Amino acid sequence: MSEANCIFCKIVKGDIPAAKIYEDEHVLAFLDISQVTEGHTLVIPKNHHRDLFELPSEQASQLFSVIPTIANGLKAAFQPKGLNMVNNNGEDAGQTVFHYHVHLIPRYGQGDGFG
Ligand code: 5GP
Ligand code: ZN
Repeated sequence: MSEANCIFCKIVKGDIPAAKIYEDEHVLAFLDISQVTEGHTLVIPKNHHRDLFELPSEQASQLFSVIPTIANGLKAAFQPKGLNMVNNNGEDAGQTVFHYHVHLIPRYGQGDGFG
């Protein structure tokens, strides 16, 4: 399932490039185009769902089951001191791309640019 004008569906289809860091049948992770901190990553279901309210449980299970693997990959690659997992749902919550996604934001200590 994809939506014609969705930028993340276009990344899934390969119509626009992204720096992919994890991919399986159901899930894709790639670097955010605007890095809040080094290694800032977005994890998405390959199918289009607008937000958490519309995300089927099965898709949530598939996505969250690989998040520890992705987080450990980021830990090994970037050696952060910590990591924030953030998910905005709805315009009023700060969502700007309406294809469900989780932000993984590696943290490097005070002044690293986030929070
Ligand atoms: P939101 O504000 O919806 O939680 O997060 C959307 C994120 O998508 C933003 O951090 C933004 O930088 C990122 N983003 C928007 N367009 C693109 C794109 O074309 N490629 C990549 N890699 N990230 C994008
Ligand atoms: Zn989409």
